[in-house]
Amino acid sequence: MSNQQAAVIVVGAGPTGLLLAGDLAEAGVEVVLLEKRAAELSNLSRAFAVHARTLETFDARGLADQVLAQGGARMGSVSLFGRATLHLSELESRFPYLLVAPQYHVEAVLRERAIEAGAEIRYDTEVTGVVQDGASVTVTTSQGEVTGAYLVGTDGVHSAVRQAIGMPYPGEAVLRSLILADVKLDEPPEHNPAIQGAHGAFGFVADFDDGYWRVVAWNHDNQQPDDAPVDLDELSEVTRRCFGTDFGMHSPRWISRFHSDERQVPNYRDGRVFLAGDAAHCHSPAGGQGMNTGLQDAANLSWKLAAVLRGAPDKLLDTYQDERHPVGEAVLKFSGALVRFASTRSRVVEVLGEAGAALGMRVKPIAHRAIGMISGIGIHYGHDKTVGRRAADIGLKDGSRLYEALRGGRFVILDSSVEDDRAVAAASAEPDGLARVVRPDGYIGWAGEDAPEAVAAYLDAHAGR
Ligand SMILES: Cc1cc2nc3c(=O)[nH]c(=O)nc-3n(C[C@H](O)[C@H](O)[C@H](O)COP(=O)(O)OP(=O)(O)OC[C@H]3O[C@@H](n4cnc5c(N)ncnc54)[C@H](O)[C@@H]3O)c2cc1C
Repeated sequence: MSNQQAAVIVVGAGPTGLLLAGDLAEAGVEVVLLEKRAAELSNLSRAFAVHARTLETFDARGLADQVLAQGGARMGSVSLFGRATLHLSELESRFPYLLVAPQYHVEAVLRERAIEAGAEIRYDTEVTGVVQDGASVTVTTSQGEVTGAYLVGTDGVHSAVRQAIGMPYPGEAVLRSLILADVKLDEPPEHNPAIQGAHGAFGFVADFDDGYWRVVAWNHDNQQPDDAPVDLDELSEVTRRCFGTDFGMHSPRWISRFHSDERQVPNYRDGRVFLAGDAAHCHSPAGGQGMNTGLQDAANLSWKLAAVLRGAPDKLLDTYQDERHPVGEAVLKFSGALVRFASTRSRVVEVLGEAGAALGMRVKPIAHRAIGMISGIGIHYGHDKTVGRRAADIGLKDGSRLYEALRGGRFVILDSSVEDDRAVAAASAEPDGLARVVRPDGYIGWAGEDAPEAVAAYLDAHAGR
């Protein structure tokens, strides 16, 4: 391969890289996605929870129906350790539930969309080095060099990009010897998902709705290295310890032992290089946040890169760190708290923890915050009451919806009297007198009354020309 130019090089075709590359290609950016694996999609169902905000993000790209059409149980509530219930059905969203869908279903939809939009995906291409200067960034790969204006490392928890730029990844292991499997159950649990902590162990069981159930189990008394053999008997024993039954499990299609770290890079940007997804943060699987957080990183970064390539000021790219680093930090804390709560061994702490959670979840504002965090719906950028908040998918005067207007990576001006060719102007079906600009990632970028001049200034700084 000769030295090739691309505006943006993305390394790693996991969910984060696929969404990012698809968004960039759809925005007309020349993008090349480098992936060390061969072209076949992995059937390892790693993440399985697709949260409401992620489905909204897919909806704003016309992809939600495709993801939902692949099947998967929709859970309107999640019971935590039999003591606290999060009622996701109360979410003000088109998707008031958690979708249980294997990660490869999501990846298949994102890959097809990225290819259709014009992203070039190069498989069997492993990145081994990165060099940047003021004008460009060059990666060394197993197939030669590639040069671009920007590089995004979405190459997972062992990120070669992160190592090549010398970015630290501080943190620690939180859980060892987690067993994860997809099995058939003859006697499924009453609650779906079922989550239980007991006798120094915890278990999680959720329906994939395709005949298989995802089981995650951990036993404080049997801590093994990742490469220690694992079988159905061990999984069944830990499941019985938590739930008093193994639900008649059999026929695993996949079973694995792994450990879970809690880590985050201090900077998501280093010059022309960005890190997103597991390359930038990792945490326990509790709360099913991993894939969802990576996808939101991609949605936040893609429109900013496209805008700067169209002439918006470079400092727009710094807002990726400003906005996404605190979210990554909050996700680490939240999933860490869940896991510590579930895995704590001391009976005293266990009882106090459960009582606290039970109490907490009954207090509306706390339950509301937990639901907002877990679903991603409550995540916002900054502290303003309007700007930086998620824009709800309101109805528009022409009968369509805001998230339909956002498709194609567009800004939407919620004030039909303001015209600007860099955005779609639309009128809300229920106007409240305040004009708004909604960013392509579905967050409010600007709100105010002095619309024409302020909107033009906002778009100069955030959309480019
Ligand atoms: C066993 C296991 C179970 C999990 N369970 C859950 C769960 O239940 N819920 C949840 O939300 N999350 C879970 N996760 C985490 C979730 O899978 C990740 O958060 C998610 O995959 C992150 O997506 P990503 O695109 O950032 O990285 P990845 O999906 O890791 O993708 C990175 C890609 O980069 C490629 N790559 C790596 N190095 C290079 C290189 N040098 N050159 C080119 N390409 C490269 C890789 O081949 C890979 O395709 C689990 C993870 C594991 C390992």
